[in-house]
Amino acid sequence: MENALFDKFDRPLRDLRISVTDRCNFRCGYCMPEEIFGPDFNFLSSDKILSFDEIERLADIFVTLGVKKLRITGGEPLLRRNLPDLIYRLKQIDGVEDIGLTTNGSLLKKFAADLFKAGLSRVTVSLDSLDEERFALMNGNRGNVKQVLDGIEAAAQAGMNVKINMVVQKGKNDQDVLPMAKYFKEKKHILRFIEYMDVGNSNGWRLDDVFSKQDILNKIGKTMPLEQIEPNYTGEVATRYRYQYSDQEIGIISSVTDSFCSTCSRARISAEGKLYTCLFAAKGFDLRELLRSGESSHSIAAAIKEIWSSRVDRYSDDRKSNTKSGEAPKVEMSHIGG
Ligand code: SAM
Ligand code: SF4
Ligand code: SF4
Repeated sequence: MENALFDKFDRPLRDLRISVTDRCNFRCGYCMPEEIFGPDFNFLSSDKILSFDEIERLADIFVTLGVKKLRITGGEPLLRRNLPDLIYRLKQIDGVEDIGLTTNGSLLKKFAADLFKAGLSRVTVSLDSLDEERFALMNGNRGNVKQVLDGIEAAAQAGMNVKINMVVQKGKNDQDVLPMAKYFKEKKHILRFIEYMDVGNSNGWRLDDVFSKQDILNKIGKTMPLEQIEPNYTGEVATRYRYQYSDQEIGIISSVTDSFCSTCSRARISAEGKLYTCLFAAKGFDLRELLRSGESSHSIAAAIKEIWSSRVDRYSDDRKSNTKSGEAPKVEMSHIGG
């Protein structure tokens, strides 16, 4: 494998997720609960956040180490000013095969055409319910379903491939699994269900609140039978299913009940430039410090090499069923973007 950098479990570095802001206009309870991320919360000041030049330089370095895919995330990435410019710049890097963006969709209608023009061909939109009341309950009473659906429509119209992410929390929005499945089957967008995860320390996660992959399959399968299909590539996070007698598919990301650490090739950079080798990591490595102290690209690449080659992360595989939030400090999801 050309350019490949492997960790201790022989997993190559292939994907880089870049968070462009720690701010968000939603307050989803499973990610940035209002009680913690309230009006007094100290978000990063703009001088602490990586500039587009710095992000581009890091992406360039990561590509020399084997990264092929980039995903832009947040916080809410569309809150970052001039985001299409960043997409354009990243798209020009030789060796980048794919760029994705994950967004809550509230501002997508406004930016869809510019994003597409800048070179973004895929977008993942998070939506947890089609019911306005439950949607508000899930996201801390911000935005509305119509805005997000309009954003999805605008992205599809602009020419982008659109996928939908739905986090399912037992007793909160599990009644939305079937209506969401029916709606997006009709619209022909791939819907991916995500098991509620114990990321960060703010969401008060309990295993009992997880609506599992099996629960999701049972719920949908009763009305619309499904068959499992092959992954598109090694390391794909979602298990794929197809509706019988149809070519429409769904995915399930089952980080809790059926983890997939053995093929995890993802590194993450937070908005302030820390490198994390796992979604559940407690500590990141400060790349911003290296960038701003004038280190050469060669020595930054050497530091990243050192970190990836000693990587032993496999949090989800090791997760014990009695994991409780607060047992160990972990980075917040809004910091590194999922
Ligand atoms: N704000 C954007 C959005 O919501 O799409 C991008 C950042 S968000 C952190 C990325 C993804 O992580 C979203 O699809 C969100 O639903 C998911 N997410 C956040 N917290 C989660 C949790 N505790 N368990 C599972 N998924 C979570
Ligand atoms: Fe914001 Fe996305 Fe987190 Fe919801 S999941 S609070 S939209 S960053
Ligand atoms: Fe990758 Fe960490 Fe998630 Fe396992 S728990 S799949 S190592 S990010």
